[in-house]
Amino acid sequence: MIKEFKNKGDQYWFFSMLGFPFFFMMASSENYSSFAEEPVLKIVIGLLLGFIGLGIGFILFRLFKNKSSVIKWSVFGALLVCCIVYARVMTNFQSNKLPTCVICGYHAVDKKTSECFVCGSETWLETKSYDDRTYETWIKEEQLFWFDLDPKNGKPNFFEPKNLEGYFKDESWSPSITEKELLNFKE
Ligand SMILES: [Zn+2]
Repeated sequence: MIKEFKNKGDQYWFFSMLGFPFFFMMASSENYSSFAEEPVLKIVIGLLLGFIGLGIGFILFRLFKNKSSVIKWSVFGALLVCCIVYARVMTNFQSNKLPTCVICGYHAVDKKTSECFVCGSETWLETKSYDDRTYETWIKEEQLFWFDLDPKNGKPNFFEPKNLEGYFKDESWSPSITEKELLNFKE
């Protein structure tokens, strides 16, 4: 296949057309990880998407390989734009996820019942109507109750797993309690 290249530019174009969509699609598989908790399945989905990207790149390569360099690189530019649009759509899709539970940090609050699917906590809006604790006390006490120590190292792990039965940890969330507070509480 390398013989088909008239010059170095063509060669770069070929590798860009195939390599970029391959790695881009493989990286985008993270968006679908809610369907796959098994690491092996994640790799399979990643590779599958990668090969779809590779296929698209290869079709475009076949279609445009005899055109001028300007057209070739324009096609690559268009491919880049498509990928950016796709990434943006996926990000929007992600942000439409369930609201974040302030207690456990997962995107898991049921919009109807205001209850968290992961830790079962209600939102503060609901709780404050009957609970006389302050917001700060409530959040701390609930977190002390909910978080456990990792049996492997005896330390709390506030940020793992990233994906719990299809619910994602909100990357911008952080606990209101410290590691030390949790350790003291569990003693
Ligand atoms: Zn929760």
